[in-house]
Amino acid sequence: MLPDLRRAPVYIGNEIYRHSTYGAKHPLAVPRVSTCTDLIGAMGWMDPARFVVAPMATDAQLLRFHHPDYLAALKRAEATQSVSEADRARFRIGADGNPVYAEIFRRPATSAGGVMLACRMTREGGVVHCPGGGTHHGRPDRASGFCYLNDPVLGILEWLEAGLTRIVYLDLDAHHGDGVQDAFHDEPRVLTISIHEAGRWPHTGLAEDRAGGMARNFPVPQGCNDSEFRWLLHEAILPLIDAFAPEAIFVQGGADALEEDPLARLGLSNNAHWHALAEVARRAPRLVVTGGGGYNPYTTGRCWAGYWAVLNGIPIPPRTTPKAEAVLRALRYNRAAGRNPPEHWFTTLRDAPREGIVRDEIRRLAALHMKESLTA
Ligand SMILES: [Zn+2]
Repeated sequence: MLPDLRRAPVYIGNEIYRHSTYGAKHPLAVPRVSTCTDLIGAMGWMDPARFVVAPMATDAQLLRFHHPDYLAALKRAEATQSVSEADRARFRIGADGNPVYAEIFRRPATSAGGVMLACRMTREGGVVHCPGGGTHHGRPDRASGFCYLNDPVLGILEWLEAGLTRIVYLDLDAHHGDGVQDAFHDEPRVLTISIHEAGRWPHTGLAEDRAGGMARNFPVPQGCNDSEFRWLLHEAILPLIDAFAPEAIFVQGGADALEEDPLARLGLSNNAHWHALAEVARRAPRLVVTGGGGYNPYTTGRCWAGYWAVLNGIPIPPRTTPKAEAVLRALRYNRAAGRNPPEHWFTTLRDAPREGIVRDEIRRLAALHMKESLTA
């Protein structure tokens, strides 16, 4: 039996993430979901009764968004650990940073199953953290940006099927949430909001891009700091959400916008994301939070574990417990920063704030989005 969501938030995880890797040289060589799960346990924040194992999505569930030929190709790649030239060309498997790896079908199908379960469980209300989800670049018929399936789309489809008519998708990842925005192009029931680094792959999500009317995009300059992030949140994003009066909010909480991430050049501390989550959580009776990008295992694990504390109203202590410190010290990170990690990656969960001036381009971006109302 599933836990009662009216009582407290639920965490959806799975052991498949623990040893699964995209390959030693890939940015997703690092453990993220298992680090988050282990940290939460080591901080003493996990009631086993609130932990649910993510099931693998069934083919029928995946077919709501994905093409049958593409699903068959992913299964073939998993079974043979290879990819034909035809499949590579058509489905981008084994191309563009989307490697063939041991769990190439089962792992994304588990992320999809977990997120779909999260949305089904919250039909009547409630809060779920599912850090294995957040693969926002996945396309109906091809892999894109390390994403094979698109679990946010599949989850939101569950909410639509349940009859919800006002859903907000908020994407905090450093990269534009292109796959989700495109899936709900012209869909008046889903407002997609993405804040991401300007000029970075996939190079979509310009400030003027409305995707038929129901998308709002916040491309931010390199070095975006906590003050700038908070400015956009309070001057534009929260007012937009309030005007839409959502019944449900889906937060893609990718951690690659944090200062120490190797794949982006933004300058946030995890305080920025935690503050946004706390604000958003008060604005809808249904909330699902996922992971997403995040290629530094220390900063990603600490950020996502902190999401769970925020959702549960647990104050984050200034120091990690000895057990949590041991989880962090056991991590290996094959990058320059990983050879000599700063001490606070082990001994704290909360980063030092990274405040700064709010640049004119940030103010203009907020003003641009408040000029016209949602219904205009
Ligand atoms: Zn990303």
